[in-house]
Amino acid sequence: MSAESTLTQLRRSLATIREPKGSRDIIAAGVLVDISLSPQGVAKATLATADPAILEAARRALESAPGVARAVIVSTKSSGHDNPLGLAKTPQIAAAAATLKAVRHVVAVASGKGGVGKSTVAANLAVALARRDLAVGVLDADIYGPSLPTLFGLNEKARLSDGKIVPAEAFGVKAMSIGLLVDEGKALAWRGPMVMGALRQLMADVDWGALDILLVDTPPGTGDAHLSLVQSKRLTGAIVVSTPQEMALADVRRGIELFRQTGVPLLGIVENMAFLDIGGTRHYLFGQGGAERAAADAGAPFLGALPIYPDLREACDAGKPLTARDPRSPAAQAFSELAGKVASALGF
Ligand code: ADP
Repeated sequence: MSAESTLTQLRRSLATIREPKGSRDIIAAGVLVDISLSPQGVAKATLATADPAILEAARRALESAPGVARAVIVSTKSSGHDNPLGLAKTPQIAAAAATLKAVRHVVAVASGKGGVGKSTVAANLAVALARRDLAVGVLDADIYGPSLPTLFGLNEKARLSDGKIVPAEAFGVKAMSIGLLVDEGKALAWRGPMVMGALRQLMADVDWGALDILLVDTPPGTGDAHLSLVQSKRLTGAIVVSTPQEMALADVRRGIELFRQTGVPLLGIVENMAFLDIGGTRHYLFGQGGAERAAADAGAPFLGALPIYPDLREACDAGKPLTARDPRSPAAQAFSELAGKVASALGF
């Protein structure tokens, strides 16, 4: 069945749901904002209602439609989950976009799976961009497993000023993470809408000020945080980090597909832990050239290969990115080159 007729069929399933008071169905009433179906059978519907009965009915209707393995329902309206951090206001997505008005480019750093070094790349890239005299922020969007506090050695909770969260500043970069706002473990119980609410707050309620680039270190995979970001309509583009193995690349292709389907330009693919240099000889432990091929397949630029640098890991664990601690090291040089490519892709 063609993609078009599958989506028509999904719309028809949703048209069986009626508005609570009105006589119209939710399609006729214009409640459906967007619908998509991934090749893996994940149907995503965005609905302009906060009515839990309608949201639940939509999920059930989609999950019983042929070809749908799982349905993800996103509400554009306030549902009471918009303020998990308990601040005074409850910003909506539009408000998030407005607050980031002084941020020129919001760039997602994503990966298909965890452990490929995405957060390490995001943190060091941010420092390398700041060393080029750009005003840079990093938003750690991993609500369940924040790593920015460790990477940047941030131990103190963020403070509020005039109802806004004041971002931390380290190594010339503004930084914010759920780990600087709530106690470890608290956010673990949060599910979809709470996670999305927290993310909106990390964008809208943080006083980011004027920035050239806000890098968003997204959680591994493709989930609520990604949808939330895409919905904010503020992404200039995405950078995808991968390791060379075929296993990792399969996930990368899924990540690329999410950005493609949602119209977010791919700024490029970075291959991390590409090889180990021993005495000038490169050992390709996980295979060679895989990420470059994935980039070519996706029609996206290949932004370069970062070797395995034991110093990089050690610096991360010590809370001081190598790019800041030892800017002349080969690892820092590699990040400087990467920063150059990213900056020029953004027109700096
Ligand atoms: P992710 O964000 O993808 O889950 P992390 O950035 O947390 O991954 O990295 C996972 C581990 O790998 C960390 O211990 C990090 O220090 C280490 N690491 C990442 N990139 C490199 C690299 N190029 N060389 C050596 N260690 C690395």
